[in-house]
Amino acid sequence: MHAEIVVLPGDGIGPEVTAAAAAVLRTVGQRYRHRFDLHEHAIGGAAIDAHGDPLPEKTLAACRNADAVLLGAVGGPQWSDPQAKVRPEQGLLALRKALGLYANLRPVRPHPATLGAAPIKPHLLAGVDLLVVRELTGGIYFGDKTRDADGASDVCRYSVAEVERVVRRACVLARQRRGHVTSVDKANVLETSRLWREVATRVARDEFSDVTIEHQLVDSMAMHLLSKPRAFDVVVTENMFGDILTDEASMLAGSMGLLPSASLGDGRVGLYEPIHGSAPDIAGRGIANPCGAILSAAMLLRHSLGLELEAGCVERAVSAALEDGILTRDLAPERGVGTVRFAAEVIERIGA
Ligand code: ATP
Ligand code: MG
Repeated sequence: MHAEIVVLPGDGIGPEVTAAAAAVLRTVGQRYRHRFDLHEHAIGGAAIDAHGDPLPEKTLAACRNADAVLLGAVGGPQWSDPQAKVRPEQGLLALRKALGLYANLRPVRPHPATLGAAPIKPHLLAGVDLLVVRELTGGIYFGDKTRDADGASDVCRYSVAEVERVVRRACVLARQRRGHVTSVDKANVLETSRLWREVATRVARDEFSDVTIEHQLVDSMAMHLLSKPRAFDVVVTENMFGDILTDEASMLAGSMGLLPSASLGDGRVGLYEPIHGSAPDIAGRGIANPCGAILSAAMLLRHSLGLELEAGCVERAVSAALEDGILTRDLAPERGVGTVRFAAEVIERIGA
């Protein structure tokens, strides 16, 4: 197949990890005889420096016309002045909005070789394989914000359609996995959560007879995620709960550097990025863990290009490298390998 893939390196370790992921994509293209055209464009702080805009028109146009977008990370101390008119993160928010991306997928599958690095007992983590689907466009983060002399308020709002589309997405994904959805809300207190639960129940019942759905309150979910993470398949939740639970779930894997994500909408283009930030403390040193970025490229192959076989091949190559003890410094501080070497080891296991 022929695919146009836009690469947005961004800031900090973004360029290092996207270079690793792009090399993996090129190898997959050669091995399976696909033509992947990779084009780099500016976003975030790097785009502010070069063009005065965290999402230049040229970048946005390229993303709209692409089959998929692979992103590194945006942000860094040099652009974080609170007085600044433009900030790197605005570029990413504007891009998500322009592409209509409403479902953020974060799979968590701790690898046996990295279980020791997680702050949770290894016997609880063995066999964990869950997928958190976070709603990305609604809720309290986007509601009206006001401040007066004696207080402040943030409005939380969800429309029926916003809940329907993300729950539907979660159910479709569950169907391709173990057929179970856990919908997380706070329906004992919040009206938006009562709506969420009603809609989730109806969508699952009317449209997905082959998927089972259960409901959890977010506070007890926070506990169960640590005490019995194996119990979950697909977890779907609203924006803020998802923000918090995905960070919590990332600790099951052992390092921020390991986990990928995908942001999808109803349009053709998906956005794929590691869950970690720009990590300015280690940027430019060649030691960043590229796993999250490489596994994001695997999600890109699966979700935007429909190349399941190729996606599985990349995931197995990463697992095999970890299994063979090839670990970056976040996982093996004493003897860890660098970004380029880790990518080369993965590429070797994909074969050319
Ligand atoms: P952001 O605000 O952009 O989300 P953050 O404050 O959450 O960023 P990160 O940039 O993700 O922070 O970094 C958090 C810590 O994890 C840092 O110490 C960083 O060095 C480390 N880290 C993050 N990603 C990686 C990686 N790929 N490899 C190694 N270490 C990483
Ligand atoms: Mg962060």
